[in-house]
Amino acid sequence: LAKESGRDGYRFFTRDLDRRASERLALENGLRRALERGEFVLHYQPQVSLVDGGLTGFEALLRWQHPDWGLVAPGRFVPVAEETGLIVPIGDWVIREACRQNREWQDTGFPRVPVAVNMSAAQFRQADLVERVDAAIAASGLAPIWLEIELTESILMGESEATVTTIDRLKALGVRLAIDDFGTGYSNLGYLKRFAVDTLKIDRSFVRDLAGNTPQDEAIVAAIIGLAHSLGLGVTAEGVEQPQQAERLVALGCTHAQGFHFGRPQAAAAINAHLAFPPVATAS
Ligand code: C2E
Ligand code: MG
Ligand code: MG
Ligand code: MG
Repeated sequence: LAKESGRDGYRFFTRDLDRRASERLALENGLRRALERGEFVLHYQPQVSLVDGGLTGFEALLRWQHPDWGLVAPGRFVPVAEETGLIVPIGDWVIREACRQNREWQDTGFPRVPVAVNMSAAQFRQADLVERVDAAIAASGLAPIWLEIELTESILMGESEATVTTIDRLKALGVRLAIDDFGTGYSNLGYLKRFAVDTLKIDRSFVRDLAGNTPQDEAIVAAIIGLAHSLGLGVTAEGVEQPQQAERLVALGCTHAQGFHFGRPQAAAAINAHLAFPPVATAS
């Protein structure tokens, strides 16, 4: 009997592996065709000034509108796109589409703000990255200062000559650079002196802890804000969900924020409606 159930368990296990392997294959094959089929969309999340509450930018966040699976979040497919190298053409599309959309907003008379795109390490390492970014900006007609590129600490940590050169050339184009998820990279921070970045984005794990009641909960956020100020960099807090977190951030001297409290990522059409008919502020 024990032998029987053991074999059953084994069969169960291999079936599970088979299922996962075929799911992965379906994801990979789907991703290969998604670009040509026009299945990717960008959602835009507002970034605001903590000083006056005004809109200061948007972050473009990738979604995959799959015919059967619905709207797929980047956490489900970006890692596979990175492993297969598909993130390179997909990332190219993201930059072009974000620039095109921002130019369209500016042409419509909406406030001029930068649009931020996320960049994977594989994309950053392309030999012709700077030419690709330059071409995307030129195709859209957007002025380069209205494009921001979000890099992660892991991209910058090596501090190799190639990395320094790429950063310098991107800056020379006139685009803005931000470090995403700042504080999670275990870096020695030395790279901040070497690279001409504009903004630190405080990772939302630290912002979440602001809801706590101890001084320790604030220590890291306070340190990042202080670091940004003393280096002359901008600082944006990510993942602000509660008004209390926004209040603490203001008290700590943080100038910019992004999070569900201020606005969720939305399709461009929803942003259009919002910008055309901003909600009337109520005095209460
Ligand atoms: P990220 O760049 O750190 O983006 C912020 C993520 O936090 C987004 O998730 C956003 O929807 C979510 N978020 C914003 N405000 C809040 C909040 O108040 N609370 C909580 N709990 N979450 C909030 P999303 O859109 O699922 O993206 C996840 C990650 O996928 C991004 O993290 C980024 O690393 C990656 N990603 C997204 N779009 C792209 C892309 O075009 N290219 C690449 N390479 N990666 C991308
Ligand atoms: Mg980001
Ligand atoms: Mg982030
Ligand atoms: Mg993140």
